[in-house]
Amino acid sequence: MKILISCGHGGTDPGVTGYTGVPEHALTCTQGNLIAKYLKAEGHTVKVCIEEWSANNFRVRSRKGCDVAVSLHFNGFNGKANGTEVLYSNYTSVASRVLRAINSTLGLSNRGLKKRSDLYVFWHNNFDCLIETCFIDNKHDYDTYKAKQEEVAKAIAYAIINKPMSKPYGWEQHGNHWYYRQSDGTLAKDRLGYVGSDFYYFDKQGRRGGGVFKVNGRYYHFSNETGKAVQGWYTTKDGKKMYFDRDGKSAVGLVYIGKDQYCFDKNGFLKIGKFKATLITDSDGKVVKGC
Ligand SMILES: [Zn+2]
Repeated sequence: MKILISCGHGGTDPGVTGYTGVPEHALTCTQGNLIAKYLKAEGHTVKVCIEEWSANNFRVRSRKGCDVAVSLHFNGFNGKANGTEVLYSNYTSVASRVLRAINSTLGLSNRGLKKRSDLYVFWHNNFDCLIETCFIDNKHDYDTYKAKQEEVAKAIAYAIINKPMSKPYGWEQHGNHWYYRQSDGTLAKDRLGYVGSDFYYFDKQGRRGGGVFKVNGRYYHFSNETGKAVQGWYTTKDGKKMYFDRDGKSAVGLVYIGKDQYCFDKNGFLKIGKFKATLITDSDGKVVKGC
């Protein structure tokens, strides 16, 4: 595709002023070049140009020969107004895709699509849309944008060419099951492991495990609700006792739990009574003699 990106303001007009003093035009130029970088990486032809909005000179590059043309701006009002809006005149789906992409990346308030037939970029140049990413005189809007400007530029680029963003890593729910997408883009599968500070199990299909079940010959206990490893004592339906450590792994053999020592069989079930000449437990399973 051939794409025209027009960076708002320029010439003698810097546009609105951000709360840090940054002029709108500097931001539209930075954003335009970032969006172009992502479009070029996808093999598209991109023209980045500067608008000139001054009293005597009002010029916006013609979109002739381009499949998509967007104009970049940032809003400014009273320091309190906030959010993202996308202006259009002759509606194309580019406008709504771009708005959705910015909203899902920045999460600022959604001011929506606005029809503005009076703007030069529309009545004279027939652009697809004019993007007002956020209010740069609003501290929260601006700081949020600055922290994510690469991500937003990529999201806008992909929205322009209608390419789905690759999923970021993190939790995903499909049907009744939870999955974890790792930073390399693949799902965690057939493994035990930490996500943050919590320990989980994922089966061969990548589904997060819950309950008490065996992994590699050892019982584990994970919460049915959160999937996190559950530490502590557990009683099976038929009354057998087990103990799971902080990774949800069953205790086996002779194990200290607090100051008391217990004995578990190879399956992790607590042994009670006299089962070895040198090892005797009390009725709670605490080892009282020998070991
Ligand atoms: Zn502007």
